[in-house]
Amino acid sequence: MAPTSVPPPLEGKKRRIGVMTSGGDAPGMNGSVRAVVRMAIHNNCEAYAIYEGYDGLVKGGDMIKEMKWEDVRGFLSEGGTLIGTARCKEFMERDGRRTAAKNMILKGIDALVICGGDGSLTGADKFRAEWPSLLEELVEKKELKPEQVAPFKHLNIVGLVGSIDNDLSMTDATIGCYSSLARICEAIDSVDTTATSHQRAFVVETMGRHCGWLTLMAGVATGSDFIFIPEKPAEPGWQENMLTIVKKHRAMGKRKTIVIVAEGAIDTELNKVTPQQIKDILSGAGLDTRITTLGHVQRGGQPAAYDRMLSTLQGVEAVKAVLEATPETPSPVICMIENKIVRRPLLEAVAQTKEVAKAIEDKDFDKAMRLRDAEFAEYFRSYQITTAADQPELLLPEKERMRIGIIHVGAPAGGMNAATRAAVAYCLARGHTPIALHNGFPGLIRHHSDEPLGAVREIKWIDAEGWANKGGSEIGTNRGLPSEDLETVAFVFKKYSIQALFVVGGFEAFTAVSELRRGREHYKAFKIPMVILPATISNNVPGTEYSIGSDTCLNALIQYCDACRQSASASRRRVFVIETQGGESGYIATIAGLSIGALAVYTPEDGISLKMLDHDIDHLRDVFLLDKGQNRAGKIILVNEKASKTYSVQIIADMIAEAGKGKFESRHGVPGHFQQGTTPSPMDRVRAVRFAFRSMEHLESFAGKSRDEIEDDPMSTSVIGIKGAKVLFSPMETIEKKETDWHRRRPKHEFWMNLKEIVDILSGRPGSPNVR
Ligand code: ATP
Repeated sequence: MAPTSVPPPLEGKKRRIGVMTSGGDAPGMNGSVRAVVRMAIHNNCEAYAIYEGYDGLVKGGDMIKEMKWEDVRGFLSEGGTLIGTARCKEFMERDGRRTAAKNMILKGIDALVICGGDGSLTGADKFRAEWPSLLEELVEKKELKPEQVAPFKHLNIVGLVGSIDNDLSMTDATIGCYSSLARICEAIDSVDTTATSHQRAFVVETMGRHCGWLTLMAGVATGSDFIFIPEKPAEPGWQENMLTIVKKHRAMGKRKTIVIVAEGAIDTELNKVTPQQIKDILSGAGLDTRITTLGHVQRGGQPAAYDRMLSTLQGVEAVKAVLEATPETPSPVICMIENKIVRRPLLEAVAQTKEVAKAIEDKDFDKAMRLRDAEFAEYFRSYQITTAADQPELLLPEKERMRIGIIHVGAPAGGMNAATRAAVAYCLARGHTPIALHNGFPGLIRHHSDEPLGAVREIKWIDAEGWANKGGSEIGTNRGLPSEDLETVAFVFKKYSIQALFVVGGFEAFTAVSELRRGREHYKAFKIPMVILPATISNNVPGTEYSIGSDTCLNALIQYCDACRQSASASRRRVFVIETQGGESGYIATIAGLSIGALAVYTPEDGISLKMLDHDIDHLRDVFLLDKGQNRAGKIILVNEKASKTYSVQIIADMIAEAGKGKFESRHGVPGHFQQGTTPSPMDRVRAVRFAFRSMEHLESFAGKSRDEIEDDPMSTSVIGIKGAKVLFSPMETIEKKETDWHRRRPKHEFWMNLKEIVDILSGRPGSPNVR
């Protein structure tokens, strides 16, 4: 029966945008719903939530509800999906999709943002392709009148990839995959300790029917002995191969064995490889072996910092894509390439994803590997090298082997040890000698007198083997610079024949390599290749948009903020003013602000003025005046430690409390060194491995060159980093001159500056931060 009412006019509003979550739930989905709703409202559109995925679209009525600004309050920190998800059989059929189209028109919705896996996105694309014919059918069947369908000729669909598996081609990360990886790594780290105590073997089964990303990354992040993934099926003889590696590790002194197996693991004949089979083999070799099946634990829990940021940025981009779409624009899916949010054609991304499964089915495993993103194959290669299997083909000829010094500089940062472990494994596989330079440059300078064991020592595989998940710095780190005594540093380099230098650290590491580079004029010993792997929670190293340790810090910080928020749930109406680290860079404060939905973020780049505080206090008054109990969990203002010399967090909190006059109260908090985190985050660990391998390859490329040739090559002192969508090396000389704000100890151009606007938009902060 044709309904009598047409959808109400938009009354000056631009669009009515629907948002839904579909398929398996993934941590971070709520962040994307929040971002879509608020960004839509900010852009003068209306936002509608479609509950329970496609089921809600097919059922219509109350399953499609308008969402107001306050309705998504608190969404960012919640796991799963608060608007529900379902697998919907009806939507697989054309009749179901026709009913869905009718329900959308009845609600006046002509744009749909869908957060789900490849199945959900396939359904979305089909829906869009059929849309004109579905409308025709609705008119033919007299379910809707021509004038009712007329304004809805074009349907905009935008996909967001929400899936723990990270199985969609064309994006490096899906919403939820890093949270899931965090759950897996927590579990394996726990199993690890008991395995070591009892000298046991554990076979851990992880999710991933068609995609081995979680398993591979868990293997890299935890330093497991062996992994099984669908894309790289177990070759004939895998049983002996696995045992050889496990026995070799044991012979080298390892007390535990961890094997990770994806639920979709297969051999080259496509037979399933099961945890029980693996257990039987390990038990048969005399190892006390247990199986741990992680199951749905991997889906649950709070989203990690990265997923909160990713889902937020993708939700924002989705609304932009809706508003910019023309009838000709192909439906996009919002992707992440390294550090850049990009739009890709949804149809192609889904088609390429399906090709992986097909390639596996066709036993074309090389193609399956190629079809995953480039990172995947790189991580697999890195993983294989770290397992220390006998790989004689990797050994370099004698004359190309180098003595590579490894040094940590600056404050400890999550991932420093993982990077060192990977560098050591790489060196040993290639025939290089990895040499730890203990306790930074001051360690070297004092090495004759103070260090009983000497500050310069070769690292054996077993020394570094357990460092994959260790926080801090196992070889010791120090802020001191080589300029304290360049001559002694040169003497030590010469004495120990250091032929290449791998420096892990933050801005001090950058400064140190700059000093060594300039010291080449006087000291021949410095005419060696040097690479910096940026490692600092502040993420302020020029030449990269990402430093290892910054993700661990963000996760520690959001935990702290979540706990503060929760503590306010009883007292209500409380504003927390929290001081973050970050030196002269507002990166940590801003990204944490994005990840927790801070009311405001104060950075050194913008400073703090009385007018700004006044403005924000006015805003708080408005927020609490309108409050009908929604602000149960408190508000947060994040203040970088160097944002102002005058306004400390305590002063700001006191000013807010004074202005609140009993209507709202305020507390300040200083998480301090808590922000360095405990166990490094999986993202920091895996990126540490990837960057360390690349750095070693880079250093190795100078083997056999004369000292003068090395000096003349600008790439002989460089920084590895992520810039936009690429991982690359940048020459120190250029970065020092053109990209470094030496006075402020940060890059001149900070890529994240425009993200502050998004923090403000999504928290509803009016007109800041330009209020001075
Ligand atoms: P996950 O990665 O967690 O499996 P997914 O989105 O791939 O998530 P699916 O169960 O494959 O999960 O799909 C979710 C829903 O999307 C289905 O229940 C169905 O309603 C719809 N859907 C999937 N594939 C299609 C299709 N080919 N045509 C129409 N609708 C589809």
